Amino acid sequence: MALRPRQRGPDALQALLPEVEIRSLLARVSTRHFGGEYADVKASFVRQRQLACISPLHRHIWLHEALNSPDVPETVFETILFHELLHLEIPPGPDSSGRMKMHPDSFRVEEGRRCPSLSDSWRWLGANLHLKHDEKQECTQVVKRLLRLSDTQRRWALETLGVSLPRVIRLGDSAWRLAPPAYRTAAFEASLQLRGVQRISAPSRDTSRRPSKGASPV
Ligand SMILES: [Zn+2]
Repeated sequence: MALRPRQRGPDALQALLPEVEIRSLLARVSTRHFGGEYADVKASFVRQRQLACISPLHRHIWLHEALNSPDVPETVFETILFHELLHLEIPPGPDSSGRMKMHPDSFRVEEGRRCPSLSDSWRWLGANLHLKHDEKQECTQVVKRLLRLSDTQRRWALETLGVSLPRVIRLGDSAWRLAPPAYRTAAFEASLQLRGVQRISAPSRDTSRRPSKGASPV
């Protein structure tokens, strides 16, 4: 899909950024922790509420697009991908009171035992993303309409667009929108031409296949 001219501001900025190479990370986690059993599972970045989720049916992991940044440590990806693949090994089951849980006790035990980067990864996620935990759904959500830019992204915007963006942009009320419209348009159009964006497809985010209802939240 080509980048549409009306796609401007932080969304467009995000779309232009290089996509994190997730396939090799996923293959490494599958090999290291699951004996390569889940080598057929794919992963992609999408715009969604959950931080991550997996569909056992589609053998696909969907990651929130906020993670699509070169600044996200590999260990954080490993932790998230391990968690999602563990859902294939340990399906939902009853807790001690007989209530069905997406993450039964055995899941948490195995996760703590086999994922050494668990604590550090969640510490990083908590410090770098706006997250909230939904107890009922047993999932972690990324707060909507809030875009946290990495240092790489902000440096890119400054060098390419000449625009100094803040660390956090609230979509719809962003610093980008505060810039004079003529300057904003000119700067962005110029950057598109310089980068030959008209001929470049948007990153291969799999937006056509949203997580199905059966997908397991993180
Ligand atoms: Zn989970």
